[in-house]
Amino acid sequence: MWTAGVGWRGVDFEVVVVDSSGAETLAPTGFGGARVGALIELLLECAARAGGALDCVVESTNGIIDGHLLAAGLRVFRVDPWSLPQRPPHGSVPARVLAEIGRAGSSGALNRLGPGTGSLAGREAECAANAAGSAEAELELGRDGRYFTRGSGKRLEVALTFDDGPHPGYTPQILDILHRYGVTATFFPVGLYAAAHPDLVARIVDAGHGLGNHTWSHPHLPDLSRDEVLRQVEATGDALAKAAGAAPGLVRPPYGARTPDVLRWLVEPGLTAVLWDVDANDWASPGAETIIANVTGGVTAGSIVLMHDAGGNRSQTVEALPRILEILLERDYAFVPVNAASLT
Ligand code: ZN
Repeated sequence: MWTAGVGWRGVDFEVVVVDSSGAETLAPTGFGGARVGALIELLLECAARAGGALDCVVESTNGIIDGHLLAAGLRVFRVDPWSLPQRPPHGSVPARVLAEIGRAGSSGALNRLGPGTGSLAGREAECAANAAGSAEAELELGRDGRYFTRGSGKRLEVALTFDDGPHPGYTPQILDILHRYGVTATFFPVGLYAAAHPDLVARIVDAGHGLGNHTWSHPHLPDLSRDEVLRQVEATGDALAKAAGAAPGLVRPPYGARTPDVLRWLVEPGLTAVLWDVDANDWASPGAETIIANVTGGVTAGSIVLMHDAGGNRSQTVEALPRILEILLERDYAFVPVNAASLT
């Protein structure tokens, strides 16, 4: 059995692979966000060399690579902060540490992820409790126009949103479809991929779509300190500003995971937090027909729809999108970018 630790630091993912004795079969190797394909190729090669027995280990501050690893058929586990040493301020614990935890099979530390379970498998109850405990903070921020999940519904409008990109394969396909139907949407890229694909961020904005901040490495924000949250948001804002000319005023927490503190920290730099009221559930690859039904069955006037242009295999999202647009256009919906003004 071999084990791969997959960490992140700044603009890079970092990979270390160890064998069953703990010896490194692959010394720490860095991959920028544009080289996810090469990273996966290398891990598949390691899996083949290990006779198919390779476990990949990520931590909960890195939620933007696991879906791509799973889509490639790799076995993926998540480790949470209470099983890990202190992280650096803008990175995960070193990949070597993650590989060692996976090799030792530390009981209770490893959470197996699957394509249908999502990055936070095993922490669903905690997330639900955190969300419930945020209701008062949401109301308070909502009154100030700093938090919303949908528009007022006074007009027959809908805002489609695409998270977790940009991705060199899927994002251009989604942009092409939106262009074909003359539809405007909003994209919430992660900083790690936005920094790697500034051309795609520029293309999104040049096409008239809205832009929002979806953090740097797609962490489970309740695991982070205030300083880490602010750095995730600031670094992403900088990467988006570099590519698009200006940092967006919207921010969306990964997984919608929030606590009252997280919400206040997110809006602290003057941003508005945006969630959604209709979840396409496309991240779980339930089939294009189900994605179409989830969206068109859920949308009402003022809805904000959550979809994804990256973070895993998004071929079903690409397949579902034209029909979703046709159905909503038939119902006379106007497609608007997410911002408080157009949805009130
Ligand atoms: Zn996301």
